[in-house]
Amino acid sequence: MREAGIRMKLNPLRDVLMGQRVVIVDDSIVRGTTSRKIVKALRDAGAVEVHMRISSPPVTHPCFYGIDTDSQDQLIAATKSIAEIAAQIGVDSLSYLSWQGMIAATYDTGDRFCSACFTGKYPISIPEPVKRQKLVLEQIAQ
Ligand code: SF4
Repeated sequence: MREAGIRMKLNPLRDVLMGQRVVIVDDSIVRGTTSRKIVKALRDAGAVEVHMRISSPPVTHPCFYGIDTDSQDQLIAATKSIAEIAAQIGVDSLSYLSWQGMIAATYDTGDRFCSACFTGKYPISIPEPVKRQKLVLEQIAQ
């Protein structure tokens, strides 16, 4: 369904992309599968270089506060360096906004809100049973 959605949503224009160097800006990379398909679609449409810039820090930890994130082993930035992620999704270059840069953009100090999915520092500790149970229904369904 996710792959079909990408194909329906994205329709790279060959006339526009042929021979071009392209920069994609996205809000995050979670598992990397969507990014890889977007990059491939751009290259298939004739882009000669594809660069990606991400307007958040790397997502390295799951959310336990209500956002439907994957388990940590599914998060590409949890186990791979930025260079390895770039190679896996097929871009010529990849950069993320730093955590410091993200916090600076809020005009705050960063200690009044959560950024645990980027740092692993959960403002409210997560009991082990909660960590184990978060994805239990997905695991049963597989
Ligand atoms: S910042 Fe905190 S609450 Fe928001 S998605 Fe990340 S872990 Fe969840």
